Amino acid sequence: MINTQEWLEGLVEKARPFASEGRVAEYIPALKDQNPHDLAISIYTLDNNSCYAGDHLKKFTLQSISKVITLALVLMDYGEEHVFSKVGMEPTGDPFNSIAKLETHKPSKPLNPMINAGALAVTNMIKGNTGMEKWHRLIEFINHMTGETVSYNEDVAYSELQTANLNRSLCYFMKQHGVITGNVEDLLVLYTKQCAVEMNCVDLAKMGAVFANDGIDPESGRELITRDVARVCKTFMVTCGMYNTSGEFAIKVGIPAKSGVSGGIMGSVPGKCGIGIFGPALDDVGNSIAGLKLLEMLSDEHSWSIF
Ligand code: GLN
Repeated sequence: MINTQEWLEGLVEKARPFASEGRVAEYIPALKDQNPHDLAISIYTLDNNSCYAGDHLKKFTLQSISKVITLALVLMDYGEEHVFSKVGMEPTGDPFNSIAKLETHKPSKPLNPMINAGALAVTNMIKGNTGMEKWHRLIEFINHMTGETVSYNEDVAYSELQTANLNRSLCYFMKQHGVITGNVEDLLVLYTKQCAVEMNCVDLAKMGAVFANDGIDPESGRELITRDVARVCKTFMVTCGMYNTSGEFAIKVGIPAKSGVSGGIMGSVPGKCGIGIFGPALDDVGNSIAGLKLLEMLSDEHSWSIF
């Protein structure tokens, strides 16, 4: 009988060759240096067992995965009514950094919190009197979820800040329309730090497990996210978590998941486990190409689709 660790190693080796069909993200210069052949996975079950395979100690930045975390934080601070007065609930079918629907969709607010415009509006709502206070609230929340002390990668944050002119435009557009308030550069500093939060796939799986467990930390038994907020976050993961291929992913995999351009994917199988994946070679829309294969195989073998 094959043990879990060996089985997971086998899946990684089956999925790894798919990485050669993808490319690492280059629009954030500091991400260019990632090794496209890295691949790692960890699974954290709700009875507190963790297993991993591949390059599981490699650290990577959360990028868009962080959007789910900030959404959970501001939803708990302000409630759905306020948050959804600034950002919508609908998938866009557009790339994550698209500006188009900000102008054509009425009212002028981002369609959902998983695209850049919506995520910037959400980060703008993090409570705190200064950028530092807001950052500390966010990183403490992440530390509670991972059970580790994590931080951010300064080079990646700086590199994105220098080149984030599209995100800058989204912010100014939204400021003009009253969706965001305050200083745009301060917001971009906070947002790029949030996107540059760094961890390995084991920590990421643990965060996924908190969502899978309806917001309760399976390790400590503490409620870190309310059940309702965890439900809203997982719903967004299903409808918009894998960019403009979320529909295809829902059919082929059916696991609430959120990806980032660093090659990370956080999955949450409700009532079962959290999944953390890292594979920096991306497909055309920005999802880890070998990571997608891994999730497809896992979902097939375990019937983990929620549908
Ligand atoms: N920091 C990245 C950006 O704003 C996150 C995008 C992503 O992971 N898709 O462009």
